[in-house]
Amino acid sequence: MKAFAVGELNFPVLGQGTWHIGDRDATARQEEETLRQGLRLGLNLIDTAEMYGSGRSESLIGRAMAGVARQDYLLVSKVYPHNAGRQNIFDSCDSSLRRLQTDYLDLYLLHWRGSVPLAETVACMEELQRAGKIRRWGVSNFDTDDMEELWQVPGGQSCAVNQVLYHLGSRGIEYNLLPWMQTHGVAAMAYCPLAQAGTLRRSLLSNSTLQQVAASYDATVMQLMLAFILRQPDVIAIPKASTPDHVAANAAAAKLALSSEDWEKVDAAFPAPSKKMPLDIQ
Ligand code: NAP
Repeated sequence: MKAFAVGELNFPVLGQGTWHIGDRDATARQEEETLRQGLRLGLNLIDTAEMYGSGRSESLIGRAMAGVARQDYLLVSKVYPHNAGRQNIFDSCDSSLRRLQTDYLDLYLLHWRGSVPLAETVACMEELQRAGKIRRWGVSNFDTDDMEELWQVPGGQSCAVNQVLYHLGSRGIEYNLLPWMQTHGVAAMAYCPLAQAGTLRRSLLSNSTLQQVAASYDATVMQLMLAFILRQPDVIAIPKASTPDHVAANAAAAKLALSSEDWEKVDAAFPAPSKKMPLDIQ
């Protein structure tokens, strides 16, 4: 799996999302096996949050990775905005670590902006880092103006990652957020890279141009959607899969290399933005 460096961390271009994983006992075994299968295929970054299933996603990951050497995978978790201040963040982080059966997170993200001042969250993140509980910190759902504000806060420029919604049917970040992040050395983590579920996904999957281009590489439209994200430098996609077949298909997408003529067809069907768009949020 291709990877790129974020400070001392080496991020694979494809990781694994885990929203809704662990929600149902009946599927838990399969979800655990899927995470391990993803790891074997090189998707060695696992994204979760204290919010997901009120901790059930973190607990399932902890069980799934119990027999795996900690240095063989990267863990990303997120703190609720209302917990991202001095009063709660240290307990929140400890609870995530306990559920994940580990003593450090590779990356800890502010899930979205809330009422806690950014300066307080950043100071807490730095404290967690000094205590060895997190290796790096970042944010999520920050638009360009939020990033600019963060840059003015003491320590704010150490932000490693901004995790944002990004897929072929939602390209708004390409207008000025992604260029801003690339200029300022902040990696992008694309969530909902497969457009999750619903009508937008259906319009992508049923698009005849995407179907034809994907078929000409013996690939699926979903794999093309992942290849679209990996076309950008320093962007990691974190698709969520709960079956071994799905995670294998996703891993294979990292090898999909379209010609520039085919990317032009894809771009014509789902164009890049020509003006600033509000940041899409799930
Ligand atoms: P997604 O990854 O775009 O889509 C997940 C859906 O795609 C699931 O229904 C999954 O089905 C299906 N799928 C996966 N691989 C497939 C394949 N090869 N073929 C067919 N279907 C496939 O949506 P997401 O889970 O919302 O986003 C990904 C991750 O981003 C989340 O899990 C979470 O970790 C993170 N996230 C972060 C935020 C944030 O605010 N920071 C918000 C949303 C999501 P199965 O489950 O049946 O495999």
